[in-house]
Amino acid sequence: MTNTELRESTQNTEPFDELKARVKDFIEGEVYDAEDELDEATDASVARMQQLKDEAKRRGLWALGHPADIGGGGRTFMETALLNEVIGRSYYGQNALGTWSMQDSLMLRENASDEQRERWLTPLVAADIRSSVGLTEPDVAGSDPTLIASTAVLDGDEWVINAHKWFTTGANIAAFTTIFAITDPDAEPHSRVSAIIVPTDSSGYEVVRSVPTLGSGHSITGDHCEIRLTNVRVPASNLLGERGQGFVIGQRRLGPGRIFHAMRWLGQMERAFEIMVARAKVRYVHGSLLIEKGQIQGMIAESAMDIFYHRAAVIAAAEAVDRGSMARMEIALVKVRGAKLLHDTVDRAVQVHGAMGVTPDTPLEAMYRRARYARIYDGPDEVHRESVAKMVTKDIGRVPWA
Ligand SMILES: Cc1cc2nc3c(=O)[nH]c(=O)nc-3n(C[C@H](O)[C@H](O)[C@H](O)COP(=O)(O)OP(=O)(O)OC[C@H]3O[C@@H](n4cnc5c(N)ncnc54)[C@H](O)[C@@H]3O)c2cc1C
Repeated sequence: MTNTELRESTQNTEPFDELKARVKDFIEGEVYDAEDELDEATDASVARMQQLKDEAKRRGLWALGHPADIGGGGRTFMETALLNEVIGRSYYGQNALGTWSMQDSLMLRENASDEQRERWLTPLVAADIRSSVGLTEPDVAGSDPTLIASTAVLDGDEWVINAHKWFTTGANIAAFTTIFAITDPDAEPHSRVSAIIVPTDSSGYEVVRSVPTLGSGHSITGDHCEIRLTNVRVPASNLLGERGQGFVIGQRRLGPGRIFHAMRWLGQMERAFEIMVARAKVRYVHGSLLIEKGQIQGMIAESAMDIFYHRAAVIAAAEAVDRGSMARMEIALVKVRGAKLLHDTVDRAVQVHGAMGVTPDTPLEAMYRRARYARIYDGPDEVHRESVAKMVTKDIGRVPWA
């Protein structure tokens, strides 16, 4: 489907429950089957992913949560959150259904010039290109964006960029990286950094290495890359949004996206739970099935509770956004506690499987690895805990819903 056709036919008005059921069918019927192949980064797996994307577009399931004016399905925020529950059942769901680019697409929609929208945003929503974001640097703490050391200096009508970043996820397959660099060193700390769009084929842009994480290497969803930009020149018009507003742009990019992360974690928890129960029903040990043993029943009950609480919390956070709130408190709460509940639920499922749980013979091993990342990316636990404490003690002295 071409970009133009995509734009003309995007608004999705289907009854929500039917749509959610169709997305679940697609994930369970098509994406699950492809997972083993997609775990390898090969030409064949890229082709398989392309087939899934084409099929999702054919079924009218593409980019459902993106606003319709940029080629998405235009579903509401709450609906998008709820769709992420089923999309998140498979790690590859986001890619197959065109929601991988959501945070970058919304960042561009909010800040890009007409020319930037045409060149980067339209093909990004169609997944004709991939994006990446360079905030984190190996030499300074990524938790504190005021420490960013990369620089961009205006020379005539070009930015000259020198940057050293890592964990620039997907830089090895992306068409561009949004680089956050100091443009105004004398401004106050939160106004020093700007966001600049840098094509990855620019002269001086180098992917130094793909950084392996917890034993995992290349991925078809893009590697965690260390990149170095040496005197890279891009037109002045590649500035994204206002000069000196990089901090705000970065924060706004991450905020609501954390709710979608948290909802996908719920999908992972639900799937891990189902895998755990299925195993416990057939594994016989010391005179009975695992499912008949009190300690295993306790693990199953704990997981059911974690899923119930996390689901209620994420929906409450999404409701706050729907009411027009920035929902900073709610988002911080579900980011930190959700990552822990995800980890604990997957951990129990691994435990019930014994040695098999730490092999790739079930999806649990990869789920466990990714659950560990969740406590670090988009701000580590401690940063969110600190901001919750600050909000509660400084601003209002109580939790807002008390
Ligand atoms: C899977 C994955 C994908 C990622 N993708 C991207 C990406 O695409 N683009 C990108 O730019 N970055 C990305 N990151 C990087 C991520 O955003 C950073 O790792 C994160 O912001 C933390 O920065 P840091 O690693 O430098 O840790 P540091 O900032 O050095 O923090 C180290 C530890 O210090 C502690 N700490 C930090 N602040 C406080 C505090 N205020 N109080 C108490 N303790 C504190 C925490 O325990 C924290 O884990 C990714 C990371 C992961 C794991």
